[in-house]
Amino acid sequence: MKKPYESPVILKTRMAISDRAVNSLHHSQTVRSTIDDIAVNKLTDDYGSPLFVFSEKTMRQRYRDIYMAFSTRYPAVTFGWSYKTNYLSAICSILHQEGALAEVVSDMEYDKARALGVPGENIIYNGPNKSVHSLRKAIADGASINVDHLDEIYDISKVADSMGRKVKIGLRLNLDAGIHPQWFRFGFNLESGQAMDAVELISKTGSLIVNSLHCHLGTYIMDPNAYVIAVQKMLSFAYEVEDSIFGFKIESIDIGGGLPSKSKLKGTYHGPDIVVPSIDEYAEKITTAIYTHKRDGNTPRLILECGRAIIDETGYLIVSVVASKRLPDGRKAYVVDGGINLLYTSFWYKYNIELTRQVGGLNEESVIYGPLCMNIDVIEDNAFFPSIDRGERIVISPVGAYNVSQWMQFIEYRPNIVLIAMDGSVDVVREAENLTDIQSREIIPERLLARPKI
Ligand SMILES: *Cc1c(COP(=O)(O)O)cnc(C)c1O
Repeated sequence: MKKPYESPVILKTRMAISDRAVNSLHHSQTVRSTIDDIAVNKLTDDYGSPLFVFSEKTMRQRYRDIYMAFSTRYPAVTFGWSYKTNYLSAICSILHQEGALAEVVSDMEYDKARALGVPGENIIYNGPNKSVHSLRKAIADGASINVDHLDEIYDISKVADSMGRKVKIGLRLNLDAGIHPQWFRFGFNLESGQAMDAVELISKTGSLIVNSLHCHLGTYIMDPNAYVIAVQKMLSFAYEVEDSIFGFKIESIDIGGGLPSKSKLKGTYHGPDIVVPSIDEYAEKITTAIYTHKRDGNTPRLILECGRAIIDETGYLIVSVVASKRLPDGRKAYVVDGGINLLYTSFWYKYNIELTRQVGGLNEESVIYGPLCMNIDVIEDNAFFPSIDRGERIVISPVGAYNVSQWMQFIEYRPNIVLIAMDGSVDVVREAENLTDIQSREIIPERLLARPKI
């Protein structure tokens, strides 16, 4: 049949580059073939995949840069290493060598610090759940305890009385520094008067002395002015306490951690290089706030408990492609051998995802799934890759903060963790697990060992 006649139309060509092309330009492949000059593929050949890799060089450098930023601006600065951010023994040991105290938030972390040889007087004991048993140890060891709630004041005073000791304690505060959501669940609220009530109660115990104030605003605090407000409020509260009838002298103010690392929060458009202020900016504003609000002749010690800002960028996870798939919506999908079991922070942060070599072909929208039998096990749902083969290595970073402490054992063994030393040598600092590790605490009751006769 003859087709009906249609008059020709001239369509205007859209000159704009298609969204997809723009995306693949934006997401041009970045390649990471080495970590501290060691080939990524050599690392996985030697230590398996997946593999966590930490750089001692970056770690010491980060610590020194951040410490210098504060200590060159203010004469009395102490750092506590936030154990919960990463409590691998090797990592804690490096930071203790650099001069950090141990900042611990549980019985377990307290024990870990002591087992690593940290003397009690170099431990800051925070957290909302300190057992009476651990408080007794901490008091005997001379640790700095920051109290979280009234029940703890009661516990500490009982322990102090039973030991016939006078005990100096810090008071954890929560306050409005313009950060939303505000963390009011830890410590005593400043603005409502709860904190001053706690000071009064402490003075009545007779055995406890408040000598320090603590406030940890939260994590990944992107606004240096929040610390400025916190410092101003803490100092004015310190002088209010000193001027009251209780006779306490505040020797230090501990502003906690929370300085951001250069990781990218999900749902943010600009990269961290644009939106995350420099450490110098935090140090400048925080120390200026102290000089502005402190009284002449008084130089309270400034304590910081940085976690992520020191460690996040020192850690990488190498994974391998196990399989590729095509999803019904047309996207390419890859299954890799490490997922949210190893990367708990993937719920909040968008990592750098890099191949170890330039791979030819067009970039296309790809999803990266972990190995778990769970729908939520997604490392990245919007990666741009050329077609990559089974066995290809992918390097995920920064992953040094909170992953190695919050990871979970669910259905997989946890892999080796290696540390690249300053001289380029590589040490395993945590061995891959095996079935013995997984089952070592299990007990099968005798009666369950009987098998039916078939
Ligand atoms: C978690 C925590 C830190 C460390 O926080 P980062 O955001 O990793 O710097 C410091 N102090 C206390 C009390 C904490 O709970």
